[in-house]
Amino acid sequence: MLTDILRELAATGTTLVAVSKTHSAERVLDIYRQGQRIFGENRAQEMLEKYEALPKDIEWHLIGHLQTNKVKFIAPFVRIIHSVDSLKLLEEIDKQAVKNNRVIDCLLQFHIANEESKFGFDEAGAHDMLSGDIFPLLKNVRICGVMGMATFTDDLEQVQSEFRDLKTIFERLRREFFRDAPYFREISMGMSGDWRIAIEEGSTMVRIGSLIFGERN
Ligand SMILES: *Cc1c(COP(=O)(O)O)cnc(C)c1O
Repeated sequence: MLTDILRELAATGTTLVAVSKTHSAERVLDIYRQGQRIFGENRAQEMLEKYEALPKDIEWHLIGHLQTNKVKFIAPFVRIIHSVDSLKLLEEIDKQAVKNNRVIDCLLQFHIANEESKFGFDEAGAHDMLSGDIFPLLKNVRICGVMGMATFTDDLEQVQSEFRDLKTIFERLRREFFRDAPYFREISMGMSGDWRIAIEEGSTMVRIGSLIFGERN
């Protein structure tokens, strides 16, 4: 399965984040041995445990909602945080990045789904943050793009239109705030059920779990 996905992604230059949440370190190692080096987790402590147990050339991507009091667990090693959904969280990431003498890459998560439960900015909220007084002071975080999750539905046109919305937000933010920032280039969208649509709509990173690891309990 992994090789099939990678073959399709290679044609578009899309990055695969293999979502290993709930699966054991041994399962991750199986996939690692097939060549995969980028893994995604949605809980800070689970990610820390796997980081400690597994080879150090793995890139760990945090993809789930992150509480401010958990940032310190992952700040020393996390490669990128996909799920920044508030200024308060970004300030804490910056603070922990300073402590670790590094810059932490982040994506802004947007609420694009037609569902209550998903976290994320709306466009006005992100605009307020990026044009506010505090954001320019945060020197140890680097905003590299956007992330979003489409509605869990069989209606593929709806999913497509939500991904299109995220791409539009990305392009507007790039024009307004990141014109001179070549690192602002990531659109993290697409999961096991909708990754092909996401790629058609311009995804640069897909986050795929169950297609690679099987169903979670
Ligand atoms: C679990 C998860 C995924 C992967 O989901 P699958 O449907 O198993 O591919 C992707 N993104 C986020 C934010 C997740 O929490």
